[in-house]
Amino acid sequence: MQQREDLLKQIPHVDKVLQHEVILTCEAYRHEAADAVRAVLTELREGIKSGAVSVVPGIDTIAKNAVELAVSKVKSTEDVRRVINGTGVILHSNLGRACLSKAASEAVTKTASSYCTLEYDVKKGERGNRAGGVGKYLKNITGCEASLVVNNNAAAVLLILAAVASDGNVIVSRGELVEIGGGFRIPDIMELCGCELREVGTTNKTRTDDYGKAIDDNTRAILKVHSSNFQIVGFTESVSVAELASLGKKYDLPVIEDIGSGALVDVQRYKLKNEPLAKESLKKGADVVCFSGDKLLGGLQCGIILGSSRYITEIKKHPLYRAFRVDKITIAALEATLRVYGDQQLAERDIPVLSMLSAGTDELNERAEKICGEINKRGGAAEVLATKSVAGGGAVPGLELDSYAVMLISKESTDGLEERLRNQPVPIIGHIENDRLLIDVRTLFEEDYEYIISSIVSITGKD
Ligand SMILES: *Cc1c(COP(=O)(O)O)cnc(C)c1O
Repeated sequence: MQQREDLLKQIPHVDKVLQHEVILTCEAYRHEAADAVRAVLTELREGIKSGAVSVVPGIDTIAKNAVELAVSKVKSTEDVRRVINGTGVILHSNLGRACLSKAASEAVTKTASSYCTLEYDVKKGERGNRAGGVGKYLKNITGCEASLVVNNNAAAVLLILAAVASDGNVIVSRGELVEIGGGFRIPDIMELCGCELREVGTTNKTRTDDYGKAIDDNTRAILKVHSSNFQIVGFTESVSVAELASLGKKYDLPVIEDIGSGALVDVQRYKLKNEPLAKESLKKGADVVCFSGDKLLGGLQCGIILGSSRYITEIKKHPLYRAFRVDKITIAALEATLRVYGDQQLAERDIPVLSMLSAGTDELNERAEKICGEINKRGGAAEVLATKSVAGGGAVPGLELDSYAVMLISKESTDGLEERLRNQPVPIIGHIENDRLLIDVRTLFEEDYEYIISSIVSITGKD
């Protein structure tokens, strides 16, 4: 017993450990280090009391253990940090969807840490338009009369319906009553907005006549929703926006189209055949169009509403707009992203989503060969393999893009390899196909190649 008392007395005081060099120079903050030191000392105390510890380690060891604990806590799995996406899913919802262009990232950094002209007109020295620059670019790109930016596309749909249809019914085709990731269901949204959902047609076929017959005095809008994440194949029939627009005109009803992914440039050439263009939807007569800012557009999370001034003004006046509006960072990122769209070639070069989509198979093969060559040269083991990437984010279900991957070669199990790669200081997320671990090169950034190469060498190397 006396021996345990003596051991307990040898435990250094928290403050003394906190003065240790390794703690003073570690990457954790002082309050994080203090928590870790307390935890290490408590464990030591309990170890002595239970008899499991018979020697009190020196202060160097205690400080070192505390730093390890503090750093591992800082890098906990719950904290948002950078990862390398080797899954080949371009708009990976779990990995944060779109990555910003360099120009947009710089705009974010600058705006985040300074005051800005969010609602200020420098020329006049008075209050100005919120998101005026964004509105200007959206008008140039899509020809819209007016626009509004909100928190995400789900909020956009909710706000539009609440503003134009809360006291009546809205007509939607049964083929478009979709659920989009994590509980965004069109019927639920309608209910929340206080409007009655009037379903027309069947799951696979809806005709203009079905809409026409459903219109009554309480009808406030016709809604068309892009079936982002599913496909109905076989005998199908749906009504085009143009047809709905002429019906809407006849009854003075707004036609609203939720186009989902928000393609601003012609993405058909990247094989994204069914993605509606915002510009086309407006041209064909939709009164209000909405879509996400962080899917095919390649910006930060937001929802964009375009349309005629008549409806946008009404939507902007609704109290929910104040609840859903976006901050200066989102506006800065969106503005910098949209600016590049003035030139499609420039957009393809600078906006990661577009450059990943447009990368050709020869280029992808070359990248994979380069990475594998380097890995093998440095004593690791990898091979180039053909694979398929996908757009993700609910854009074009079923569409696969030919790509190339770096396949890791090792005696270790595929699951084990996957886990080791995932637990690198900057996690590398691969994907397993036919029991092989692949890193799809389509979703990689060139500046990460060196890191990926050295990580794979360390995992698959002989020693
Ligand atoms: C993705 C999507 C939404 C939801 O958009 P968020 O920006 O994720 O809120 C809504 N409607 C359609 C058709 C979509 O594809």
